[in-house]
Amino acid sequence: MSVMDNLSRVRQQIAAAALRAGRDPARVKLVAVTKGVPVEIIRQVLIPGVDGLGENRAQELLSKYEELPPDVEWHFIGHLQTNKVKKIIGKVSLIHSLNRWSLAQEISRVACEKGLTARVLVQVNASGEKTKSGLHPQEVEEFVAEASSLPGLEICGLMTIAPWTENPEEVRPVFRQVKELSLRLRQNLQARMDYLSMGMSGDFEVALEEGANILRIGTAIFGWRV
Ligand SMILES: *Cc1c(COP(=O)(O)O)cnc(C)c1O
Repeated sequence: MSVMDNLSRVRQQIAAAALRAGRDPARVKLVAVTKGVPVEIIRQVLIPGVDGLGENRAQELLSKYEELPPDVEWHFIGHLQTNKVKKIIGKVSLIHSLNRWSLAQEISRVACEKGLTARVLVQVNASGEKTKSGLHPQEVEEFVAEASSLPGLEICGLMTIAPWTENPEEVRPVFRQVKELSLRLRQNLQARMDYLSMGMSGDFEVALEEGANILRIGTAIFGWRV
């Protein structure tokens, strides 16, 4: 299967899942996760069109940023080291992985210095897995309330990574919990919850059915990474 074939199959699956959920597939963003994928291959998905490219390491994002067209919408989806913030602010459209106060402060500081507003999602560790990054669901409301007061930083929603499973039905409650949390934040804090970034290759249909509107998909498009 070529990358183009994979992409069109993923698009069809997204359309079908959106239909099942009574959602408009045009309002679901597909971010192709390109970690480990060479730029020649990434170019193949830029033509039929994905909504953005996602990277989880600053260095890799920066080198691809130089090589790919300037209109690419970049998403930072991995653990962000505080000392890398100044390199990516102004280049990425959305940081999905705000997971600690020191990072919020640094994003705010750098954005203000550059005269920009950085758009971020708060990463939630909804399953409580020790190996996963993100705030505990019970910490999120207070964190969002405090981080919302920082200048230069705009919280636009939540992101989560579900545990890996053979059967994506098992993680449906994880997605549902994050959706409910976003509704609560909207109600209690009038927080802008424009985006819910949930769903990867193994579970994006279930995530979409539960309210995701940004899907981060790597392997289902590019094949198994080495
Ligand atoms: C790698 C990665 C993805 C994509 O995972 P696939 O299973 O390859 O689709 C999504 N989100 C994050 C944060 C990732 O690191």
